[in-house]
Amino acid sequence: MATYRRLDVAFASGRGAWLTDQAGARYLDALSGIAVCGLGHAHPAVAEALAEQAGRLVHTSNLYRIPLQEELAERLTEVTGMERVFFCNSGAEANEAALKICRKFARHKQVAEPLIIAMTGSFHGRTMATLSATGKEEVRAGFEPLLPGFLHVPYNDLSALQLPEAVHARVVAVMLEAIQGEGGVNVPTPGYLRALRELCRRNGWLLVLDEVQTGMGRTGAWCAYQHEAILPEVVTLAKSLGNGVPIGACLAGGAAADMLQPGSHGSTFGGNPLAAAAALAVIRTLREQHLVEHAATCGAAMLARFREQLGAIDGVVAIRGKGLMIGIELERDCGVLVEQALQRRLLLNVTAGKVVRLLPPLVITEQEADQIVATVCLLVKEFCH
Ligand SMILES: *Cc1c(COP(=O)(O)O)cnc(C)c1O
Repeated sequence: MATYRRLDVAFASGRGAWLTDQAGARYLDALSGIAVCGLGHAHPAVAEALAEQAGRLVHTSNLYRIPLQEELAERLTEVTGMERVFFCNSGAEANEAALKICRKFARHKQVAEPLIIAMTGSFHGRTMATLSATGKEEVRAGFEPLLPGFLHVPYNDLSALQLPEAVHARVVAVMLEAIQGEGGVNVPTPGYLRALRELCRRNGWLLVLDEVQTGMGRTGAWCAYQHEAILPEVVTLAKSLGNGVPIGACLAGGAAADMLQPGSHGSTFGGNPLAAAAALAVIRTLREQHLVEHAATCGAAMLARFREQLGAIDGVVAIRGKGLMIGIELERDCGVLVEQALQRRLLLNVTAGKVVRLLPPLVITEQEADQIVATVCLLVKEFCH
């Protein structure tokens, strides 16, 4: 089906931050398959784990214990501070699980017509429930009637949460991205997440953080909420969890930990031995090579250089980011930069129309980072000229 507008290039192989197309040309990847290949392409640790596991056992179903899944749950709860994990196969599915937890939680609190607060400009996935949570009109258009029970408020605006009493009483959860990805790399003001945490605690609402794009080290912490030293009740992960092997996770703690019980949710593939082996290799490698720390320092250096070189350029509205999640907002729509970058053998993305989005792999070297900065600065300067 014609669901994607694809660029006319196909890659045959990859290594680290580099991809090679079918004609043999090499491209520097500053997108990582949309924040998926955090360890870069064809990482040997993941390749070995996959090959070894594929030769041993791929799938048994969740009717039986899966030791690799249990081990992965241990590692994930360690790095996130959560208590329980449900495994699925994508970000949308992880968010579906989160939304079902919210509904169960509402049932426990005997809130008959529960509301989940979500944010304008957010992106939570393409299934019916997750697109109902999504705060982007173009994602929702044409699929009405949507799932009821969502109230969208402006992102990064605490005053938007002062609700009329009748509305307030129906709220059971607040769901948001720790940094909005598709919405334009929108980094909230320091203290925003912390204040939301406190607001949710005071009102007995669940704080649900979609870290599908920001999680697994991308922003220089395992999860972006850790920059503010808070703990949500629900966290969702997917994208880079398996470095390209489809796997998602919905993690929960506190009041949300035990909402899902036998029979209330499930997934045939979720957390199968092959996917779990890949994710375990990802976590092991991130730890052994200190890649989360590297994302923090390398990303900060890139951001500083972008600000130096583009900060005073007319037509550049904002340069923002955290770790290796960087957005450069321009005054006008700049989708053409994707093609122009491709011609210069650089892969990048433009989101929200006018934000150049960079999501390079966490294994990126200083030299590769320099090359990305140089090419992007050149393109942006030309574009704004
Ligand atoms: C990509 C993304 C999703 C959806 O993930 P899929 O695996 O495509 O279903 C959800 N939330 C955020 C923040 C994302 O970036």
